[in-house]
Amino acid sequence: MSAYDVVVIGGGFLGLSTAYHLGKAGAKVLLLEARDIASGTSGACSGRAQVSEGHLDALNIRLIVEGMERFNTLEEELGLGFEWHRVGCLCLIKEGQQHLWNAWNERAAVLGKAGIEVEMLDAHSVKEAEPHLNINGLMGAALSTEGLLNPFLFCWAYACAAQRYGVVLRAHCPVTDIQIAGRQVVGVTANGERFVCGKAAVMCGAWTPQVTRLAGVDVPIKHTHAEAYISEALPPLLRNTIALADFYETIHGKPRAISVGVSQHENGTLVVTEAVTMCEEIHGWVSAWGLGGMASDLIRFFPVLGRSRMLRSWGRPTSFAPDEEPLIGWLPQLDNLYVASSMVETITAVPLISEWMAKDILGEELPVSLDIFSPARFYQPA
Ligand SMILES: Cc1cc2nc3c(=O)[nH]c(=O)nc-3n(C[C@H](O)[C@H](O)[C@H](O)COP(=O)(O)OP(=O)(O)OC[C@H]3O[C@@H](n4cnc5c(N)ncnc54)[C@H](O)[C@@H]3O)c2cc1C
Repeated sequence: MSAYDVVVIGGGFLGLSTAYHLGKAGAKVLLLEARDIASGTSGACSGRAQVSEGHLDALNIRLIVEGMERFNTLEEELGLGFEWHRVGCLCLIKEGQQHLWNAWNERAAVLGKAGIEVEMLDAHSVKEAEPHLNINGLMGAALSTEGLLNPFLFCWAYACAAQRYGVVLRAHCPVTDIQIAGRQVVGVTANGERFVCGKAAVMCGAWTPQVTRLAGVDVPIKHTHAEAYISEALPPLLRNTIALADFYETIHGKPRAISVGVSQHENGTLVVTEAVTMCEEIHGWVSAWGLGGMASDLIRFFPVLGRSRMLRSWGRPTSFAPDEEPLIGWLPQLDNLYVASSMVETITAVPLISEWMAKDILGEELPVSLDIFSPARFYQPA
């Protein structure tokens, strides 16, 4: 039976990056992942380090500004490249969406004060910025500079760097039991093996409720199901990542909805997202409705892509808390069970929030309060 200071459960962006910082700080750490590293939602994403679409509160803006700064040296720090580069993002606004145009102007003003430049472009300027884009029916776009990376390599870079600091990483090790004594987690069981721990951290994305339930705690995390696909490698066609400014409005509360987005990665492939379905179960399916819908919307915007071939498609859950803020902190029902799930603009935040979460887990002082993310907000004090 092995003993660890901290057992981190979940090998996605949050678990791997936090394990890295815990190991770097000298803690004895075990990370348990049910399947392969990055096989949850992290390996399913577009790889965008978004800057302009998230919440506008001071904490989120700080995570964006300082997170983006960290990326300048992160590949060097982790010792592995993950195809990081900066790229424009055009959030398209359609004709008739004056309310969105106004809202994005206000958003641009708030972000601009924090040093995140967002330029409002009319349709003519959008065409200049993205020559292959069909601008029929477009009012304009909000242009910002964000980041793009390969999500598998990003996870791998954190995994390798964590191991260099002595973190033990076990894939194909689903946690099936969490042992409690009084108000303390004392051990976890995975693959029939028991690991004693001083603290545990559940960083399981949409699977978080399943895992905290093993400790007898229900967390109010829900999820939608999102489908995406990747194309064959193509010559450089897209200058910017393309998203729709009405993404949240389109998908919010709908049984199913499509909001197309596309990024061209360094290897020439296009990652095309998202067909979103409300559902209770977690699965990896894709549908004819989803793939067909994303492809036809994409071709309407980029007729030049009409003959591009799909290479691979997938579906994964996207988790969210009822108030759509992240869930990060100690569960009030126990003394030593930490939880982190449902970040907004996750990739951008990861370099900084993971360092803060590691400090929090180790009982060190944080440079900023994470109280607005605390699970305690969902429970009445005893
Ligand atoms: C199509 C799509 C596109 C997206 N694009 C972007 C984007 O461009 N930029 C961005 O920032 N975000 C994007 N997101 C969101 C982003 O992918 C997620 O916020 C992020 O991956 C969540 O990371 P995580 O570490 O919290 O969870 P996950 O990556 O889901 O990791 C949780 C891990 O826990 C493991 N696990 C579950 N149960 C157990 C168990 N019992 N024992 C051990 N391990 C367990 C799972 O196997 C999984 O690997 C996108 C999401 C989708 C679906």
